[in-house]
Amino acid sequence: MDKTSQTSALKSIHLILVLVLMVTACKQARRVADIIIQPTPRELYGRQFENDSTLFVPWENAFNEAMNDSLQIEMPYVEQGIFFEKNTIAYSYNLVLQRGEVFHVEVRMDSLSSPVFVDLYEQTSDSLPKYDLTARNENGQRNLEKVIEKSGVYKVIVQAGIGATDHFQFELYSTPSYAFPVTGKNNEAIQSFWGADREGGRRSHKGVDIFADRGTPVVAVTDGRVSSTGERGLGGKQVWVKSGLLGNSLYYAHLDSILVKTGNRVQIGDTLGLVGNTGNARTTTPHLHFGIYEGYRGAIDPLPFIRINDKPSIDQKTASFESPKITVSATRANLRQSPSVQSEKIGEAKKGDTLFILGIAKKWAHIKTETGQKTYVHQSLIELNPE
Ligand SMILES: [Zn+2]
Repeated sequence: MDKTSQTSALKSIHLILVLVLMVTACKQARRVADIIIQPTPRELYGRQFENDSTLFVPWENAFNEAMNDSLQIEMPYVEQGIFFEKNTIAYSYNLVLQRGEVFHVEVRMDSLSSPVFVDLYEQTSDSLPKYDLTARNENGQRNLEKVIEKSGVYKVIVQAGIGATDHFQFELYSTPSYAFPVTGKNNEAIQSFWGADREGGRRSHKGVDIFADRGTPVVAVTDGRVSSTGERGLGGKQVWVKSGLLGNSLYYAHLDSILVKTGNRVQIGDTLGLVGNTGNARTTTPHLHFGIYEGYRGAIDPLPFIRINDKPSIDQKTASFESPKITVSATRANLRQSPSVQSEKIGEAKKGDTLFILGIAKKWAHIKTETGQKTYVHQSLIELNPE
């Protein structure tokens, strides 16, 4: 080896060393940064493909597009469809969630191996709008479950892994975080709601009234400790239960009789007393007044904590389309923001237009137009699987 080639060999070793150090440093820096930014399972997954821009860029763009989508849905919501390999889509839905409900997203797919990412964002500003990540599904899980602590507008984004080709079904629904407080009763027995006028508007109703026969058991909606019982004021015979150390105070009023004592530990479903009409309810038929008091803020609307919501009905057949391309068969087709004829019209398509189908939600097709707009169109106006 002559001197020059020796020098150049040394130089290349030097270069390799520098490169190795840089890569290690980058990895280290990323690890440190991750502690602060806490990447989601979706972001961590995406890193495996970062160096393959033909795969990564469309997938990442689809997610960013979905952040700006504004389709609105109501629960329960079911959508069925197909992830087409080339047609990288992230599914996005805006919806209103209330404090006290437990929000669920369940994703079903034929294959057990493809990953799917479910991110839940809370809208933090009306004007921009701006969204903050509030929950995501755990790595390897397909479902998301989140107790809602603040009422407002939320955005759900569902995205499958890169190159996924599979049938899917999304189910979005909510359940109450507490049990129903009166045995054998349901929503129909709630006949007076939060905020209703009392004493000719001098005060407003700080709870809900659940009507039932005198003597019907009133039960603990969650585990807790009886913090006070007695007969006094407007509430008459009453029981207060504190749920956990920093939990809410639950107020059960107008009881006919009290069956627990202060200091008792109660478990969900335990009988606390019996429905009656004591206190200022003595002129009305027997009912339970149920209220929730939060440490600093006072009374809050208890309805979403106990309301029993409809579960998604899975009576629809598996979506029957094989190609993402569909055509408009009606002369004109209204494009809507929600799968409902009452919802806002956000565009129009005409006979022969090509649309791209993302999924089927009952009688509606969730579609993307040629300009990239996502919207709903009624199934009767389109032809699936055109020639
Ligand atoms: Zn009441």
